[in-house]
Amino acid sequence: MRPGIHPRIVGDLVKVVCAATLILVASLAAACGAGGPKDGRPLVVTSIPPLYSFATNVGGDSLRVENLLPPGASPHQTSFTPAQAKLVAEADLLIINGAGLELWVDDLIKSTGRTDLRVVEASKGLDFLRPDEPIPVPGGGGSGGEPPTNVDPHVWLDVSNAKKMVGTVTDAIAAIDPKNAADHRARAADYVKRLESLDAEIKRQTADLPRKDFVSFHSAFQYYARAYGLRQVAVLEEFPGKEPSPAYLAGLVDLVKKLGVTAVFSEPQFSPRPAEALARETGAKVYQVDPEGRELRPSMYEDLMRADTRTFVTALGGTPGG
Ligand SMILES: [Zn+2]
Repeated sequence: MRPGIHPRIVGDLVKVVCAATLILVASLAAACGAGGPKDGRPLVVTSIPPLYSFATNVGGDSLRVENLLPPGASPHQTSFTPAQAKLVAEADLLIINGAGLELWVDDLIKSTGRTDLRVVEASKGLDFLRPDEPIPVPGGGGSGGEPPTNVDPHVWLDVSNAKKMVGTVTDAIAAIDPKNAADHRARAADYVKRLESLDAEIKRQTADLPRKDFVSFHSAFQYYARAYGLRQVAVLEEFPGKEPSPAYLAGLVDLVKKLGVTAVFSEPQFSPRPAEALARETGAKVYQVDPEGRELRPSMYEDLMRADTRTFVTALGGTPGG
């Protein structure tokens, strides 16, 4: 023993170092559990935040759920990262929206070389709309080029669709985790009840709005409009990220003026410039709505629908919460 250091202190030091090591090991293990190797629970991978909400509400703690898109990313991208490929390579179940939303998913699955991966399309069996169906913009032509799909994939923005999607997700989860199937179905039933009251709440909020018409940033809110008695009269960008041509914008200006539309929406994932340009020319106002959501938590879907509804109600002349 060196002079000046009491054996008690050495003993305490050893305890402190041991405790620190244990904490380090525990946090490393926790960090691995959050995105690293398997932790013993089935791994369910979802593509977009609303599906993450559905899967976590159904799966509870008995599943590990990870989402492919990082917060704020648009699902209308065309590429994927090595980290996303690694997650899919390890997945027991991949839950996608389908209906042409995840144009990158086939290549992603192919890149993993897996032929045994269970993939479920949560939108299967729903009643689809074509993109931008309600009213074609006069002059047509759009912003150039064809949209890559002829189905509008944003089905989850009608809560009655979300309820059906939860049913599809629940069947898929029960199939990969049969020993907990009864628990999954019980949690799903509770969640569907919450979605039913959310649907009723949105219907109440949107029932008597002074105005019904809006211009959407991209063709994201048709299902919402159909469910809640509103009208997406046109879209700014035929395919999100592709800015409208001057001719298309001129057609939109005429339409917005003719119909007296006062609400133009932008989305957090994309530039607000086209919406601002249209608003400047017409006297309409720009509001931001988010069709996809950014946060990964079980309540995100419900929070997103409530936040977007508050914006719709305000933009269309109503009183949110009234
Ligand atoms: Zn979209």
